[in-house]
Amino acid sequence: MIYETRNARETFTLGECIGREAKPGRIYTLTGDLGVGKTVLTQGVAAGLGITEPVCSPTFTIVQIYEGGRLPFYHFDVYRIGEVEEMEEIGYEDCFYGGGICLIEWAELISDILPKDCIHIRMEKDLTKGFDYRKITIEAPESGQSLQDDDR
Ligand code: ADP
Ligand code: MG
Repeated sequence: MIYETRNARETFTLGECIGREAKPGRIYTLTGDLGVGKTVLTQGVAAGLGITEPVCSPTFTIVQIYEGGRLPFYHFDVYRIGEVEEMEEIGYEDCFYGGGICLIEWAELISDILPKDCIHIRMEKDLTKGFDYRKITIEAPESGQSLQDDDR
């Protein structure tokens, strides 16, 4: 499914829809260059889950947990991860398989431990369509494509 947004508000709103519809246990991966709007989308997802705390990037903690919404929300940014073992140290399995919602930035770095049925969200700019244009591709597991095939 491809969505196109023309400003940050529209991206936030798309995130809100994702958050409202998210089922317990769902894991989303989020890919895209710096400044493309990953944090904006994530803030929308949190809002859609009913989380009112401010959401920012968890880069230095790997995972930030928000429990004030409809479901627990685990926001990962694994950019600085050295080895997959670090995920074990932070107890990622309790997040992945605990019935909450996970959203993982830079998920390709931990592809070895990602479950098969993640939903992949890819954000891209296209400057020919304007500075604030974003193409957001959401790939459900049913499409049969893996992260390795598509995001490398
Ligand atoms: P990332 O987390 O991917 O590094 P951010 O979400 O922090 O990116 O920043 C995205 C920036 O781009 C924000 O300043 C936001 O206002 C701006 N922006 C402009 N157009 C859009 C859009 N269509 N969707 C999301 N953000 C947009
Ligand atoms: Mg960010």
